[in-house]
Amino acid sequence: MSVETSKQPSTSGTTSDELIRIEGVTKRFGDNTVLDGLDLTVRTGRHVTLIGPSGSGKTTILRLLMTLTEPDSGTITVDGQRLFPASEKELREVRKQIGMVFQQFNLFPNMSVLRNITEAPVTVLGLPKDEAEARGRELLDLVGLADKADERPTRLSGGQQQRVAVARALAMRPKVLLLDEVTSALDPELVAGVLDLLRDIARTTDITMVCVTHEMNFARDISDQVLMFDSGRVIEAGPPERIFGEPEHERTREFLGAVL
Ligand code: ADP
Repeated sequence: MSVETSKQPSTSGTTSDELIRIEGVTKRFGDNTVLDGLDLTVRTGRHVTLIGPSGSGKTTILRLLMTLTEPDSGTITVDGQRLFPASEKELREVRKQIGMVFQQFNLFPNMSVLRNITEAPVTVLGLPKDEAEARGRELLDLVGLADKADERPTRLSGGQQQRVAVARALAMRPKVLLLDEVTSALDPELVAGVLDLLRDIARTTDITMVCVTHEMNFARDISDQVLMFDSGRVIEAGPPERIFGEPEHERTREFLGAVL
């Protein structure tokens, strides 16, 4: 199934506002075909959410986009750059366009919260330290942690650590933010705060988002397009009102029945 995240029908070929294009991507781990000829296009500024049962290949897509793993066949293009094959220099450039927030926050425990945010802008983008710090403090303000700049991440709650991870991803001014079940490692009472922050970011910035989530209300709120995965394929795609309101596929109805 080919999926376009535009409300306009695509005529052909590449268009200038196309940020991610995945074509015919197959990914196997041994005998396990995790993605099976996947086609997916994400246009600039869109918010796309991947839902579906565990093991259906959603995280693998984010990992492919982050170049953390390679497809067995098919092509992936991000911001006009083909990912496989690509030189290390080309991949470094692409990775600058992509911010990722993981389930486990993956903060550097031995650095202050502020340094966690400024490290990549300084070392990867070559931003002057004072500029990176000023921007880092703005981002900490945005995520509601202005007073935690000098703390070690381990002294923060899980929800606060995840907010720092969001700020760290945004510090690179990426074109696309990949969110991989960012609340699934959090205590239940901390989930809402992180989701509210992401809702705000989706509403107030023009960043493109690709999210894997089990939070269906969040998916409904932020998405332009929801893709339902099953066994490495998109079995149904559409705007959230339709996917949640009138799912067409039996597997989608079953899945939503179990999680809603
Ligand atoms: P989802 O995000 O939908 O839960 P994943 O993309 O994480 O699914 O995983 C899809 C399938 O790929 C699962 O069966 C998982 O066990 C398998 N898989 C993922 N990563 C690896 C890996 N590094 N080695 C072997 N199997 C993997």
